[in-house]
Amino acid sequence: MNRPLLEVEDLATHFTVSHPFGLSRRAVVRAVDGVSFSLAEGETFALVGESGCGKTTTGRSVLRLIEPTRGTVRLDGTDVTQASKPVLRALRRSMQLVFQDPYGSLNPRMTVGRLVAEPLVVHGLASGREAGERARELLSRCGLAPWVADRHPHAFSGGQRQRIVIARALITDPQLLVADEPVSALDVSIQSQIINLMIDVQKQFGLGFLLISHDLGVVRHMADRVAVMYLGRLVEVAPRQEFFSQPLHPYSQALLSAVPREHPQLPKTRIALAGEPPSPTDPPPGCPFHTRCPHAMPVCSRVTPQLRPAASGRTVACHLHHPPEGLE
Ligand code: SF4
Repeated sequence: MNRPLLEVEDLATHFTVSHPFGLSRRAVVRAVDGVSFSLAEGETFALVGESGCGKTTTGRSVLRLIEPTRGTVRLDGTDVTQASKPVLRALRRSMQLVFQDPYGSLNPRMTVGRLVAEPLVVHGLASGREAGERARELLSRCGLAPWVADRHPHAFSGGQRQRIVIARALITDPQLLVADEPVSALDVSIQSQIINLMIDVQKQFGLGFLLISHDLGVVRHMADRVAVMYLGRLVEVAPRQEFFSQPLHPYSQALLSAVPREHPQLPKTRIALAGEPPSPTDPPPGCPFHTRCPHAMPVCSRVTPQLRPAASGRTVACHLHHPPEGLE
């Protein structure tokens, strides 16, 4: 594996909210609760899980668009979490976000050329004609004709707008791209074009990708490694091949059982999970998945399993794979 580009250690992001049911007490939402992983140069690391599991908050906390409650994030050795405002501003050139919604993320009053060139101007890297030429070059590398620069975003389809968003994210020559559901707002017919574009630009620019997606089809195409989140915690991290062929954690198995098989004649058993995920304001004791797990044992409601190494270069947080001492 290449050297680590992004190192995340014990990241937690908690929010205080008004208590549901109008009680005066405040509640703490543990959106992200002790997440650790690393991402190598040129690697695509995917965070997957049901909506509300904390994957988007993790991506935004890594970029410090949301201030984490605790933990450390390092980009190429520089501590992002402790960076002063000027240092953080400089770091933002190196880590960019591609949003889910290409409609909402582009200012409709600006031309595409100005939108794409804007980060260069904001960071003082170029201005005027030089910035405009660089914007046209990036648009071209993202599959758009130079005249696109003179139009406004409303003139383009969702797929073209996402190409514009990607060109804008790349213009400062970043090292890391956080892509949050980058194709989920697009027509299915367009999604594969944008996925291929992202794979292309990753090779061209040598980028690290933190891919956030609930769509395991997209993850299967793009990811090198997959991390599964449940209730703010990672429960399994595995290379793509191993994850899709033999997921270890019962939650990963349930997620994958809902994905259509590549070959319709392959046997398939859908694992139906009981109930909804618990509230992150009141997570259950022990394993956070024990209220829905088909393999839950008495120990699971008492002892929280930690993410520990398992077979084939993966890690898993489950007592089935690492029985607590005294229960082996
Ligand atoms: Fe299921 Fe227990 Fe493993 Fe949690 S620790 S996933 S409840 S078997």
